[in-house]
Amino acid sequence: MQALQKITAAFGLEWRDVPEPEQPGAQEVIVAVSAAGICGSDVHIYDWSGGYEFLRGAFPVTLGHEFAGRVAILGADVGSLSVGEPVVVIPSVECGVCKHCVAGRLDDCRDRRGIGMLRDGAFATHVRVPARNCLPLPAGIDAAVASLAEPLSIGLSALKTAQVKAGDRVLVMGPGTIGQAIAMLAKAQGAQVAIVGHNDAERLATARTLGVDATLDIEGAPEGAMRALLGDREYDVVIEATGASAAVQAGLDVLRPSGVFVVCGIHGKPISFDGAKLVRMRHQIRGTYRASRETWHEVRDFLVAHHASLAPMVTHRLPLAQALEGFEMARRKIGSKIVLVP
Ligand SMILES: [Zn+2]
Ligand SMILES: [Zn+2]
Repeated sequence: MQALQKITAAFGLEWRDVPEPEQPGAQEVIVAVSAAGICGSDVHIYDWSGGYEFLRGAFPVTLGHEFAGRVAILGADVGSLSVGEPVVVIPSVECGVCKHCVAGRLDDCRDRRGIGMLRDGAFATHVRVPARNCLPLPAGIDAAVASLAEPLSIGLSALKTAQVKAGDRVLVMGPGTIGQAIAMLAKAQGAQVAIVGHNDAERLATARTLGVDATLDIEGAPEGAMRALLGDREYDVVIEATGASAAVQAGLDVLRPSGVFVVCGIHGKPISFDGAKLVRMRHQIRGTYRASRETWHEVRDFLVAHHASLAPMVTHRLPLAQALEGFEMARRKIGSKIVLVP
């Protein structure tokens, strides 16, 4: 089969002819990929613009970590999974041998290998995955929408980290898929949500379609536009999903005393902010990352309940063979989520 792989520590990705995974090992299955989203991190790996040097040891590796598919071949001892069953796949694979894994605390494993990062992923027709990473879906869920489960899991983790409650005023910085996921989930929890972007007309338009209360493009906006967006009250929670260090101070500047600021973006450079102001405002800065398995189950249920309203997040579906066009579109911020369909 053709697989889109990273093979060297330089710009670009390459199509390579690789053997289709055949017989899965014990507790593994082969999934036939139905849809796989291009993530911002995939674009960084394509660009080789920094932050993903840890992948070098895995080259050549097939990318693609946001995906849904159908179980194609069963290994031994895979529980209740059946051939043809639609699934969404948790891309983080625990080592299975460390003391945490052995004790059953999979979320505490410190030696994970991500599917589509350190082991072959879903920009191909088939992928080998642990059976325990497959979450079954009911029939009738659009696979492209189901492939949003991974960014939704990051979004739900961010909201849990922020302890968002009904009635909170939440500012999301960064209208990419993760920012949109945070906004959707916060709205579903009864929060009032604004989202800001930077030179982001298309993704902010998607955010409006999703029902976000207010949007702002900071690029070219008049001075004080962030404050004007606020109205008369500061935000209870600000969640940053940009990875741009300047966003941190800008977000803290509109956060209420004792408010929570959550850093969700991957920052390639150190972040600086006004420490004295942080102390006097009693601001809480928290980091958030990969979701727990419990959160993944909640995301699957959210997807099943809300798949129709999540659909606008997927703006483009391209055949897998046009993946590199999709990467170029993502780099140029065309559309929102671009999903590849084998
Ligand atoms: Zn991703
Ligand atoms: Zn482990």
